[in-house]
Amino acid sequence: MQYQIESFKVKKRGKQVIVYVIILLLVLLVSISLGIVVARKGNEEKTMGKLIETKANAKKVKKEERQEQSKRNNEKQGDGTQGNLENKKQFVKNVDQIYNGEKGKRVFLTFDDGPSEAVTPHILDTLKKYNVKATFFVLGNRVKLNPELIRREYREGHYIANHSYSHEYSKIYKSSNAVLKEYNKTEEQIKRALGNENYSSNLFRFPGGSTGGEYDKVKEKAKKELEAKNIAYLDWNALTSDAAGADTKEKIMKNLEETVLYNNVVLLMHDAPDKILTYETLEDVIKYLQKKGYTFENMYDLIS
Ligand SMILES: [Zn+2]
Repeated sequence: MQYQIESFKVKKRGKQVIVYVIILLLVLLVSISLGIVVARKGNEEKTMGKLIETKANAKKVKKEERQEQSKRNNEKQGDGTQGNLENKKQFVKNVDQIYNGEKGKRVFLTFDDGPSEAVTPHILDTLKKYNVKATFFVLGNRVKLNPELIRREYREGHYIANHSYSHEYSKIYKSSNAVLKEYNKTEEQIKRALGNENYSSNLFRFPGGSTGGEYDKVKEKAKKELEAKNIAYLDWNALTSDAAGADTKEKIMKNLEETVLYNNVVLLMHDAPDKILTYETLEDVIKYLQKKGYTFENMYDLIS
């Protein structure tokens, strides 16, 4: 009996031990699985973390590239026109030699008498669509009215140049000093609009052209004074006559075809408020020049 009881106790303890072992094993198993899951999750998180980090880095690099690009543009403007005398002189030389370029066929699209709310944004939209960079010869009094359009032109990579303040011949051509005054007044408006004290267009276009007419003598004197100050001036060698009577798309295109004759073309157009036809025809103008094998440049391409 004693033995039986002992034996029963042993058996009972044995069973208990087995149960304990099973529970222990179960606990162990659960802990191991949990450990694996946690470890895996940790790894996943690490991978995700790395991905996010890589993405953030790529974004940062892109942002830095953009900042670098706009810094380079700003430096170009500062160095090429105002900041550095040697670069200013080089720019004047390059503008003087604009019709002697030997790199194939190139065209400079130029728009005078703007900016205007009615026309300039449409022109900018079309230029953007074709990724064409142009040069805007702006009027100081219109810059004052539409500074945001100047900022957009600048932002979208177009060159902003100077076409006097008032565009009133009798006022501008009173004397060579008056020409310089109109130039400076417009430069001030451009700087103010851009919020950039360093901006200097360094490029003037005489209203009505730099030669001939009743103000020829004043123009000649003003040219010498501009040269002395290392300021370039530029006329054109092709035009659509959009400000001289071309009142249909057909006439605009006919004038274009008849005047685009050389490898180096400076094309005159206008973005004054009434030049609706100019923006309505601009796509056809660009397509025509593309078909003829021209590449589009603007004045930034003349800044070394
Ligand atoms: Zn003009």
